Amino acid sequence: MNSISFFSLLFFLLLGPLALHSQQAAVVDRLLELEDGQYFADRDSAYKNPYYGLKKLIYGNRRFVDNRSIKPRQSDADLKNGSLGQKPFATIIGCADSRVPNEIIFDQGVGDLFITRTAGQVMAEASYGTIEYATVVLNTRLIVVLGHQSCGAVKAAMSLPENPPGHVVTLINAIKPASLYAKAHASGEKEQTDLAIRQNVIEQVNELRDLEPVLSRRFASGEVLIVGAVYNLETGLVSFLEETIESLPAFNK
Ligand SMILES: [Zn+2]
Repeated sequence: MNSISFFSLLFFLLLGPLALHSQQAAVVDRLLELEDGQYFADRDSAYKNPYYGLKKLIYGNRRFVDNRSIKPRQSDADLKNGSLGQKPFATIIGCADSRVPNEIIFDQGVGDLFITRTAGQVMAEASYGTIEYATVVLNTRLIVVLGHQSCGAVKAAMSLPENPPGHVVTLINAIKPASLYAKAHASGEKEQTDLAIRQNVIEQVNELRDLEPVLSRRFASGEVLIVGAVYNLETGLVSFLEETIESLPAFNK
């Protein structure tokens, strides 16, 4: 390899990931500066302090994007150690899509994430109870609603089918407000779908922040953080949504 191609490779290796990360909202950088953070956030600190938990997810996803995953707590011994109980530091409400494996994209391990997955991360009573269980019984203080690019459930809601099969109508109806919002505020099929995916997450974050009687109070008191993010299937990047970060208590002091 000559020196020019060596330096261009070095340039790409150094700046490629930086360019990807810079797509994150500036508010995420402010979040990372809130308290002293480190590339590998400590697990117990993440459990006690949801802002550390958020940083832990952001840094874990950066490792994944940069092909530097450390795959923590994933050995056979870790998997067989479940009888010791669990202290997951984050609850994830994500889509059932097979291309969005939560532990892998956030580079976390056994016992770290408490996960509920349905198509389009649409929630119903059982989901609420699951999330409240994590909050009240497991004392998990961070909740992330995770949408993703090219979500089939959102695409289905965008097409507004006349007679969706079986219970799929439940999903379509739940995502319909976001799809109508996107049709009114964007043009072009891809732009509309991307906006609907984002808007759907924002509405689901608000749904949980307003959910009586447990989450609304714990969010208002700052005990629990509820944020939204969208996963990019091509780059692996999880983009946390500015609106849902800026409205956290730490930004409103
Ligand atoms: Zn999906």
